[in-house]
Amino acid sequence: MKLTVVALDGPSASGKSSTGKAVAQALGFKHLDSGALYRAITLVAIGLREDDGLAIVGGCESRSLHLAPLGSEIVPYLDGEPVSDQIRSPAVTRDVSQVSALPEVRRWVTAELRLAVSKLGCGVVVDGRDIGTAVFPKAPLKIYLVAEPLVRARRRMRQGGRGESGPKDLTLEAERLRARDEADSSREVAPLRPAPDAVHIDTTHLAFQDQVARVVDLARKVLG
Ligand code: C5P
Repeated sequence: MKLTVVALDGPSASGKSSTGKAVAQALGFKHLDSGALYRAITLVAIGLREDDGLAIVGGCESRSLHLAPLGSEIVPYLDGEPVSDQIRSPAVTRDVSQVSALPEVRRWVTAELRLAVSKLGCGVVVDGRDIGTAVFPKAPLKIYLVAEPLVRARRRMRQGGRGESGPKDLTLEAERLRARDEADSSREVAPLRPAPDAVHIDTTHLAFQDQVARVVDLARKVLG
């Protein structure tokens, strides 16, 4: 399989990662959740008590933060180990939009995403906020997933917030998602928005397997 990128963007808890994983599996591609790298950087920033972009990037490099395969996933490694649960903590979720708005951080992540994908030599589904607009603007298939805020909050709570602990209150969760979307959409560098040629899929009334099937069908049509 030649190198092909499916860009999957959308707001928080729109189902990008679970959809991306299932689509990648159906196509025999790898899956890369770019939000996990922003979360890993935020974990480093919290440890350093640092809000300066260059200092944060320096801290990431000194702890060898990078992306590498783990089975069919491309995941962040910190100090030589894959990071997973720690990057889903309430503290990381609270600070991640602020850290990911820093231009030095975005530049570093964009370069790391491109490098990791260039090493694969196979198809990959990359999910995030700016994959179709900034990281891989030439991706042959760009999807923008949306869903109504309360539906997203309900799904996120049903999944146990993907390991994010904290108060399990629907309106509070919806408010957290709204605040994160607002921060991600209003930052200056690579804000959350659909690429002009992205296919929009509203998953509010779609069953999970139907949204996966829709993306897989599109990918088969576009990628041949
Ligand atoms: O996808 P997830 O919710 O884990 O992403 C966490 C945060 O990382 C987002 O709220 C956003 O601030 C940032 N992010 C980003 N660009 C991406 C992926 C994630 O700014 N491509």
